[in-house]
Amino acid sequence: MTSRPVLDPEEWPAFRAQAHRMLDDMLEYTRLLRERPVWQPIPEELRQTFREPLPAHPTDLATLHDRFMRDILPYTVSNAHPGFMGWVQGGGTAVGMLAELLAAGLNANLGGRDQIPVEVERQVVRWVRELFGFPDSASGLFVTGTSIANFIAVVIARTAALGVQVRRSGVGGTPLVAYTSAGAHGCIAQAMDLAGVGIDALRVIPMNRQFQIDTAALEQAIAADKEAGLTPFFIAASAGTVDVGAIDDLSAVAHIAQKERLWFHVDGAYGALALLSPRIAPLLTGIQRADSVAFDFHKWGQVQYDAGFILVRDGALHYDTFASPTAYLRRETRGMAAGSPWPCDFGPDLSRGFRALKSWFTIKAYGTEQLGESIASSCDLARYLQRQIELDPRLELLAPVTLNIVCFRYRSPDSDRVNAEIVMALHESGIAAPSTTTVNGCLAIRAALVNHRTTEADIDALLRATLSLGDSITARG
Ligand SMILES: *Cc1c(COP(=O)(O)O)cnc(C)c1O
Repeated sequence: MTSRPVLDPEEWPAFRAQAHRMLDDMLEYTRLLRERPVWQPIPEELRQTFREPLPAHPTDLATLHDRFMRDILPYTVSNAHPGFMGWVQGGGTAVGMLAELLAAGLNANLGGRDQIPVEVERQVVRWVRELFGFPDSASGLFVTGTSIANFIAVVIARTAALGVQVRRSGVGGTPLVAYTSAGAHGCIAQAMDLAGVGIDALRVIPMNRQFQIDTAALEQAIAADKEAGLTPFFIAASAGTVDVGAIDDLSAVAHIAQKERLWFHVDGAYGALALLSPRIAPLLTGIQRADSVAFDFHKWGQVQYDAGFILVRDGALHYDTFASPTAYLRRETRGMAAGSPWPCDFGPDLSRGFRALKSWFTIKAYGTEQLGESIASSCDLARYLQRQIELDPRLELLAPVTLNIVCFRYRSPDSDRVNAEIVMALHESGIAAPSTTTVNGCLAIRAALVNHRTTEADIDALLRATLSLGDSITARG
């Protein structure tokens, strides 16, 4: 007898018990994170076990769970760990984890249709508008991350500059040019590439001593391009640069964009949510005037990966840039196909997960005050780290601390090599995990304090380990 394999459990009680064990393991993992190393090297034999052929036959769920606990869970970068300070990554929360479980249970597709999950996303869009002081006509959309959000902004700005027919004709011969600072994230250049404008059309404007875009140089570049017969269309300012956490003078850039009639975009990947903290928000003044803002709930918002967001002042233009009528996506006034416009009308994704649920849970469960305090306290930790660096003659601060990123180095005549060694050894020690970047030509140890679990004790551990590694590496010569 052959029967159609239904992929649901055959024995619900056993499955339920197994499910509870899996949930308990992840709750314990979260509770006891601090007792684990931030990272540990992956044994080569273990890596090889992930080179097996495609399995034709079933494996028992309990076996898979054991394999996960033994072979996968211990070998991640643990950005949830309080000692994780690399790149810019959020820590997530136990609340977000449960919301992901609920969303996965529904397996909702947020491309559109008349369903409350879409209303949840619209609720978050309304909250984001409120937070940024945008009008009711502004639109918003969850995306994977700020890389894609920046790309969407460039595509909309292209429509603003050339009209909707650009969707059919392409950019053609129009010599569009865009502006950003030397501190901008690499995905701004990538967005130019993907949008068909080209990386060479992005003018990289130098930074001032505060690592902000040099606004006088920006104005000169725009004037020179106009003089040369080019078509300036887009400025991407940064609210929290990836290297040092600098915030461009957003009011000054807004003024230039307005005067020159250019699209004013803000890459606020991690920094924009500092609006949640009344103490930090004034640093972002001017962001309220942006035409679009890209940011991530998965960084300072502590929402589980991934949860990027694009906010656009002109919702109608946003719709006109992406909406495409097709027979199989016909809208109705009643039934499941009602509720137009749908999220798929505002971006390139048709099938979309329920990212809004974990964001909605996080915002509701903590409230903006607690989330804002967690952001402000990571800025306090950065100040604390800055003070400790300034107190130790073996260390040197390499950039001003604006928000939560601290770039420093262990002083040595062979500084780049020694500091790169220190960071690799820190990772291998499992004590703390900063990353590196280059600041004014010097390799820097870069601590980005994003995780809500990080405390002064973790900063002390980072400093102790950095100093002892620096001393021993230089003693070895
Ligand atoms: C993280 C980051 C990005 C990229 O965002 P993703 O969510 O990783 O795509 C862009 N810009 C800045 C300033 C960032 O910090």
